[in-house]
Amino acid sequence: MSIRLNGTPASPGVSIGPAFLLNVEEIRVKKKTLGSVEEVEIELERFSNALTETRGELEQISDQISDIIEGQQLIEVHILLLNDPFIITEVQNRIRNEKVSAEYAVSRVLYDVLERFNSIKDPYLRSRAVDVRDVGRRVMASLLGTEQEALSNLNSPVVLVSRDLDPSQTAGLSRRQLLGIATDLGGSTSHTAILARSMGIPAVVALNDVAEYAVPGQIVIIDGIHGDVILDPDDDELQYYSELKKRYNVAEAEIALNADTPAATADGKPVELSANIEFSQEADQVHRFGGHGIGLFRTEFIRLLSPEVEDDEEVHYRAYRHVLETLNPEPVIIRTLDLGGDKFLDSIPTVEKNPFLGWRGIRICLDHPEKFTRQLRALLRAAKHGNAKIMLPMITGYEQVVQVRVMLENIAAELDREMIPRGDIPPLGIMIETPAAVLAIDTLLPYTDFVSIGSNDLTQYTLAVDRGSQYVSKLFDSMHPAVIRQIDIVARKCREVGQWVGICGQMASAPLAVPLLLGCGLNELSVPLTLIPDVKEMISVIRMSEAFALAEKSLTMKSSEEIRKSVLNYVESRYPEIILDEIHRERTDRGN
Ligand code: PEP
Ligand code: MG
Repeated sequence: MSIRLNGTPASPGVSIGPAFLLNVEEIRVKKKTLGSVEEVEIELERFSNALTETRGELEQISDQISDIIEGQQLIEVHILLLNDPFIITEVQNRIRNEKVSAEYAVSRVLYDVLERFNSIKDPYLRSRAVDVRDVGRRVMASLLGTEQEALSNLNSPVVLVSRDLDPSQTAGLSRRQLLGIATDLGGSTSHTAILARSMGIPAVVALNDVAEYAVPGQIVIIDGIHGDVILDPDDDELQYYSELKKRYNVAEAEIALNADTPAATADGKPVELSANIEFSQEADQVHRFGGHGIGLFRTEFIRLLSPEVEDDEEVHYRAYRHVLETLNPEPVIIRTLDLGGDKFLDSIPTVEKNPFLGWRGIRICLDHPEKFTRQLRALLRAAKHGNAKIMLPMITGYEQVVQVRVMLENIAAELDREMIPRGDIPPLGIMIETPAAVLAIDTLLPYTDFVSIGSNDLTQYTLAVDRGSQYVSKLFDSMHPAVIRQIDIVARKCREVGQWVGICGQMASAPLAVPLLLGCGLNELSVPLTLIPDVKEMISVIRMSEAFALAEKSLTMKSSEEIRKSVLNYVESRYPEIILDEIHRERTDRGN
């Protein structure tokens, strides 16, 4: 009998294929003592060969992902670590002095180095342990010969099933041999998810126990649209998902045809439909998918893939400049670092009991003005190259906006003194992600140039549902009346003072939410690149007068079920293709 698991959709698309279980090699190995000087020499040579092989592997990965700047930077760091003379000498000394095998010496040195990392107080430095472990595993894999090797020698493509993947493992996987990814751990903002999306490979993460249930070679279905994984599917499931896959692929093929048509409703109202991106290189794809500008550039991903560039103004500057130049004159909303919460727990102290209510987003930035200054300097310099807008995450009070504005003015003056070219100070906007920001929006609007609703966090904070928790995921519902009413409040208040308002949370790409969001009068929908075509199509069947009526009516309803049903009734009549997906979606999750 088939097994159906539900996780977090991490990269859209459907794939069907045999499972390949990738087990991450353990760093610690059994001690093996050497008998002779010759054996010591052999082990030293094995170690040296493993370093050469690993270096070669990393360089190959770097070539494969030459189009992803951030991924390349990560690999560069790994090559630097691999060449670290301290670590190399430590391993060689252990082989010589303790007369142990190369893998044992590597495992002990790694263990010691990681222990030292663990005791470092500075969270940023401590986070570098991830890279050390990652490189260490590669060297061990080369010494021991592992599944990683088998994966690179596959004759036919597979669906990769694993507990988790290290960042460089994901980046190093061949796009040709990989049909899909299913992992127990990770979230939609995990390394695996981000890289899978940019590589266009369907992926589902946070499945909890897929690695336990999956059997090597067994057929696996990955539904990266809804977050389902089916192990050993029956004939009905195979047929359903083959059809879904076909429809998805046909829709993808149609992308090119619709890409140049601007988004507009059936009665001709143009809608700003822009892209959410995580990598600077994704900017190159915005027009191919038919988007207009960027509604959310999550800059913390530059930091995620290479922790050492956090403070590197140049790296940030180059990333922003690339996006701005690529899309000029279209608007590019660059969000300042939103670390914390569920992001990069390895680099943020995890001592907080409630990290989502803790040191996160703008709070961290304002507590570290010296680091934040580097990002703002990079932004101001890059602003010269396009239509930049700056957006602040997690705003709860006007003072935070004022503080950033003052910083921007000071930094602009500093750049002028240093005679460093810069653009004008860009419009400064805020994300509306907390009920505080909604209820007190009239106190914020005088200080901002635009706002964008972050429905992921707004839903989380409104419904008191941790967006990453598997236990309460059924309660996470952006169609809840409390969320819809807040979106209406924000839209009305913005309209009253003539301020531009967009939405950049997941909700903006949920088919049943689109008519309501348009009906609330939002100016813009910003959605993940690959979902732009679907949302554009959805927009094209909606009539504005009907959308207004739907939104108005939803404000009187008492449950998300009622709201969904009312939108579905409307949509069914105009867009029958939606039904299959939505019925399926209703069965498996709450849609957002
Ligand atoms: C949101 O909260 O809706 C949002 C877009 O920001 P993020 O998902 O990065 O927290
Ligand atoms: Mg958010």
